[in-house]
Amino acid sequence: MTNSVHVDEKIIIGRMDSTPSSSQLSGLHEPDADKGAKPPRVYQVWKGNNKFFLGGRLIFGPDARSLTTTISMILAPIILFIAFVSKDLIQEFDQHLDKLVVALPMVLVCLVLLLLFLTSCTDPGIIPRNSRPPEPDDDTSNLSTDWTGYHNIPSLPLIKDVMVNGMVVKVKYCPTCMLYRPPRCSHCTLCNNCVERFDHHCPWVGQCIGKLNYRFFLQFVSLTSILCLYVLAFCCVNIHKIMNRHRLNLWGALLKSPASGILILYTFVAGWFVGGLTTFHLYLVLTNQTTYENFRYHYKRKMNPYNLGCLGNIREILFSKVHKSRINFRALAKVEDSPLVTPSMSMVSGHAMGPGNSKSNCDIEIDVRCNAGVQDSEDIMKDMHRFRG
Ligand SMILES: [Zn+2]
Ligand SMILES: [Zn+2]
Repeated sequence: MTNSVHVDEKIIIGRMDSTPSSSQLSGLHEPDADKGAKPPRVYQVWKGNNKFFLGGRLIFGPDARSLTTTISMILAPIILFIAFVSKDLIQEFDQHLDKLVVALPMVLVCLVLLLLFLTSCTDPGIIPRNSRPPEPDDDTSNLSTDWTGYHNIPSLPLIKDVMVNGMVVKVKYCPTCMLYRPPRCSHCTLCNNCVERFDHHCPWVGQCIGKLNYRFFLQFVSLTSILCLYVLAFCCVNIHKIMNRHRLNLWGALLKSPASGILILYTFVAGWFVGGLTTFHLYLVLTNQTTYENFRYHYKRKMNPYNLGCLGNIREILFSKVHKSRINFRALAKVEDSPLVTPSMSMVSGHAMGPGNSKSNCDIEIDVRCNAGVQDSEDIMKDMHRFRG
C-alpha cells in the first residue's frame, strides 16, 4: 500500500465543497423569531441518547453511570497500595526514592482519571443529523444495483459506489440520521448517533470511541496498563523484601502483607485485560484500523485502504491535527416549518443539513464484498492536496 490516495474527485469533491461551516452547524437562531420565548439549545433537543452536563459542555454516553464502577476499580487498589504497601516499601528505600515510590502512582492515577474523564465527556465525533432525506443524486452512474427507496423517495439509493484509491467502495445510507455515512462512520445503537471513525462503544467509559476521543482512550488504556504493572511490580518487591527480612516463605510473607497479595492477584488479572487491550490498539494504530473494521472486515494487510505504513499510520492517528466537534451543542436550536421534520430534528440539524446541503455528507461505509476501501473525506482531501504537491 502506497501513500497515494486516488479518489473519484467528481463524487468526493462535489460533496466536500458544500460541507457546511461550523457556524451553519451551530444552528444559531434569532431570538426575535420566537416572539419572546427563549428557544432551547441544541443539546436540550438532541435526538441521540447522550447525557449532557454543564449546559451542554460535557457530552456523555447513555451509560455514563458505568464511570463510577470504572473509577472505583482504579482508585480502590491505589488507595490500598498507598495505605498498606508503600509504607513498607518506604523503609526499604533511601530518602529520595521512598517519596518517589508513593508519588509516582499518585501522579499516574491522576492522569488516568483525567484521561478517563476526557474520553467520556468528549464528543466522539457525532455527525449532525439531516432534517430530511437527501435529494436523489442525478448522477446514477455510481449507484449500486443493491438499493431501495427510503421515505417514499424511490430514487434514493441505500448504497452508492464510490471509487477510492482505484477501488470501488460502498457508501451506505443511515435512515435514522438521514445521511450517507462519512467514511469509517457507523451508527451506534446505544448512543443512537452516527459517529466518525467509529471504533467501538466502550461500556467502561460509557461513551462511543471515535475520531475525536480515540487518542484520549488510547492514552487512558496505556497509562492504566503502566499503573497496573507498577503496582504489580512493587507489590512483588515488597513480598520479596518481607521474605528476606523476616526469613519467611512466600505464604508467610503474604500473610504478613495481605494487601500485597490481594494487589498482586488484582493487578495480574487487570493487567492482562488492559495490557491486552493496549497491545491490540497499538496493533490497530500501526495498521490503521478501527476495532469495528478489524472485527467486521478482517482486513488483510494489502486490502486496507487506510494503511499508510507504520510511520504514516502513527502520524495520522496520533499526531495529526485535532479536529473540532461538528456540532455546537450549546447553540440555540432552530425550528423549521417543514412537514417532513419534527421540531427536535430541525432544531438539531435542519439549519445545517437541509436538503440543499445534503450532498455534503460524502458518507462512505466499506462493504467487504467490494474488496475495497475508503478514506475519510477530510483525509482524502488532505492526501489529495499532499500528493498534488
Ligand atoms: Zn446514523
Ligand atoms: Zn455509543
